[in-house]
Amino acid sequence: MNLIYVAVGSNRRPDAAGAADPLSAALTAIIHESIRPRIVSPWYRSPAWPAGIGPDFVNGAFLAETQLGPEETLAALQRVENALGRVRETRWGPRVIDLDLLAWNDIVTPDRAEVERLMALGLEAGNLPAPEHLVLPHPRMHERGFVLAPLLHVAPDWVHPLTGLSVREMHARLPEAALEGVIELQG
Ligand code: ATP
Ligand code: CA
Ligand code: CA
Repeated sequence: MNLIYVAVGSNRRPDAAGAADPLSAALTAIIHESIRPRIVSPWYRSPAWPAGIGPDFVNGAFLAETQLGPEETLAALQRVENALGRVRETRWGPRVIDLDLLAWNDIVTPDRAEVERLMALGLEAGNLPAPEHLVLPHPRMHERGFVLAPLLHVAPDWVHPLTGLSVREMHARLPEAALEGVIELQG
């Protein structure tokens, strides 16, 4: 059985009136994709990023088990995004649901050099076309408060295979600005 770590976000209400909260809907939908959530974080509110680009996000993270391989896992997450009404618009634009595969066990793909190159890009990544191929661990997870704050509830001791840092350590090293406005929601 494989352990996967997923970040989930939404900053647009679904079009259908009375539709379920998209994060909860995604958790229900992935069960039908043979992905079994084990630990789910509280939800957080966080400002859209880069600043001013759109409405606030609701973010969360979960740990799940699956027998799917890495590519199959990403394909399953994308089917769920599509089923919940994700429309591919501008990169980093408002979306009903975003499911990012942060890690699949501790594999590194396509290879160490490429993941390290993408990790070093930071903000510049937004100006580049999104990679066609799967990249793991997600190359921007270490710099995002809205990812590491919920992930800290779920997998504090998971260790990044390239940096050797645990989620707890990555979270502690975030610049203050990365956690600004990242607020745990009640209930
Ligand atoms: P970011 O990745 O910076 O959070 P984003 O979530 O807005 O940006 P998307 O438009 O959702 O980016 O995804 C762009 C592409 O990234 C997807 O089509 C997907 O194939 C690819 N991709 C590569 N690696 C991953 C991964 N680990 N998790 C999710 N998508 C990935
Ligand atoms: Ca994302
Ligand atoms: Ca995504």
